[in-house]
Amino acid sequence: TVTSFAQNYNELLKETHEKFKGLNGGANADYIPFLANVPSNLFGISIVTADGKVFEAGDTKYEFGIESISKAFVLCKAMMEVGPDSIAHAIGVNATGMPFNSVIAIELEGYSPVSPLVNAGAMATNSMIKGPNKDAQWQIVLNHLSDMAGRPLKVLDELYKSEAATNQHNRAIAMLLDAYGHMWADPIDACDSYTKQCSVGVTAKDLAVMAGVLANGGVNPITKKRILDEKYVPKILAVMSMEGLYQTSGTWLFHVGLPGKSGVGGGVIAVVPGRMAIAAFSPPLDPVGNSVRSMAAINYISEKLNLNLYSSS
Ligand code: GLU
Repeated sequence: TVTSFAQNYNELLKETHEKFKGLNGGANADYIPFLANVPSNLFGISIVTADGKVFEAGDTKYEFGIESISKAFVLCKAMMEVGPDSIAHAIGVNATGMPFNSVIAIELEGYSPVSPLVNAGAMATNSMIKGPNKDAQWQIVLNHLSDMAGRPLKVLDELYKSEAATNQHNRAIAMLLDAYGHMWADPIDACDSYTKQCSVGVTAKDLAVMAGVLANGGVNPITKKRILDEKYVPKILAVMSMEGLYQTSGTWLFHVGLPGKSGVGGGVIAVVPGRMAIAAFSPPLDPVGNSVRSMAAINYISEKLNLNLYSSS
């Protein structure tokens, strides 16, 4: 029955939260000063089913920086504008196997960003989204993210200031890509729009709804608004499988068997196509940048519900 299904999911989330809230290990990102000061004990988990049922446990109302998870969502918008072939040719859809802000990956791989989910590729992706001017372009990106969340999102101003004051490395990457012909807007404007997209505040529940768009064939499971053509959903999920959890994307896939994406704010999403999205948030990160508690929680839920996409049963 519907009641027992709902009860099971609520109980599973409660149990998962209880099980991993004391899991220590990892540390907040500190290369962006704002992120270092987010309380480390925060921990929230949410599931949104493809038909729009929402389940939550723990700190699912707390707004934190979406960071790198925005890369997968902004890619949806660029995919709609330029199509998958342009993404594959102009940016690349492979794994770098290197840190998210690697310059070496660009130099080694034919001067292209390699993946839309590393900083270089995400800035190039952002630059493919056109607007009449810089501010209008940013509004288009923000409106798109809000449509995915089903509510108006906004930039966390203190986070944005903190990132903008310390993003020299990203600006350098943007300039380098411009020199190699892999930027489709002014590189510093693209870097700024990217920095804003990373500074957007979301809750764990928002992330589950946003990832729910990918679980529901491109339609927001709550508002029912179409965000992405259904035929592009597998492309986004393939890119996430490849590069969603930094250099340990393979390890993640090996254990969990679901396309995912993490961000240095402590969020992680996972998508079960046609069924549900799972999102978790907790600030302490492992050495490559993935939230320790979020990964453990999603892995546990995936095992309990037998969600691994590579399993025959
Ligand atoms: N804004 C962060 C950066 O560009 C995002 C990194 C991440 O979450 O991987 O460094």
